Formats: sequence, C-alpha cells, structure tokens
Amino acid sequence: MQKAVFLDRDGVINDNKRPVNRPEELILYPKAGEAIRLLNDAGYKVFVVTNQGGVGLGYLSEKDLDEIHAKMEEDLKAANAHVQEIRACTHKPKEGCVCRKPDAGMILELADKHSIDLQHSYMVGDRITDIQAGEKAGAQTIFIGNESVDADFNTDSLYEAVQWILEREEHGCTIE
Ligand SMILES: [Mg+2]
Ligand SMILES: [Zn+2]
Repeated sequence: MQKAVFLDRDGVINDNKRPVNRPEELILYPKAGEAIRLLNDAGYKVFVVTNQGGVGLGYLSEKDLDEIHAKMEEDLKAANAHVQEIRACTHKPKEGCVCRKPDAGMILELADKHSIDLQHSYMVGDRITDIQAGEKAGAQTIFIGNESVDADFNTDSLYEAVQWILEREEHGCTIE
C-alpha cells in the first residue's frame, strides 16, 4: 500500500512568524524543498493539510489562498519537489466542521482517495492540534518545535524530520 507524509503548512514548510495572506508572504524554510524532494524520491506521497480559518473570518479570500498555494508549488518546483495535493480547512475556527485540525477529516479523506496506509504514514506539524489530528487518523506523528509535545518524534525542522523518517526506513524499523 502507498505510504504518505502529511505536512502542516505554516511553521513546517514556510516561515510563520507573520501571517501569510498574500503570495509574496509565503517564504519556504531553508531546505524545506529539499526535504520534500527526498520524500518524493523515497516513494512517499506528500500532502499538505492546513487550517486556514482566516478565509472563513474574511482575512483572505479563497482566491488569495489559491494564489498563495500556487506560489508555494512554484517555489517547491524550483527545488524539484512536488506535493500531491493541498487540502485547506477554510471554515471559521469555531464552526464545528470535521476538517479543521485537531480533527482528522482532511487526512482521512486524502488517505481514502489515494489508498494510503496510514499506519505507515506520518503527520508532521508545529502545533499540538497537528499531532492530535495525526493520532486520530492513526498515523505516526512528528512535532517540530521546542515545546514538550508528546509525539513519536520531536525535532527542529522538516528537513530533520525527513532524515528521521528515511533513517527509520533504512534500518528496517517496522511500525507496530
Ligand atoms: Mg503550523
Ligand atoms: Zn473545516
């Protein structure tokens, strides 16, 4: 079955010190493109699952979000990296939808559509809600950041997270 890595966007792929409401405000982290390329080369499908409640709240439009994602894909392409599909929850934070993380709706839908083996897949995020969504979906979890969050692995960057995933695979670690 197909394995995958689900990535949160802000704070994982791109800098999130400031809100990203325009394409030019999306700045990839150093080596984020390289990290995604390594996953592509290793046969993982890579998906982005992002909460964008700012759309529901009116800070940016669906069109702005599409343009931001087009810019991200263009920058990734320049690094020979590719994401299979981008899912964004654009509902208001308190709307009670099933897609906004910590709910697992976006991950589960993508897994179903692309026949993903979630047990051998990963969710990478920089908030506890990303880890909760990954756990609910039955995936392995990787937390990026300094807070003490209970995940399968904690590290500083997407690049380091990918190194861990690939090393694990190389050593034949089986996930029970
Ligand atoms: Mg984030
Ligand atoms: Zn939603």
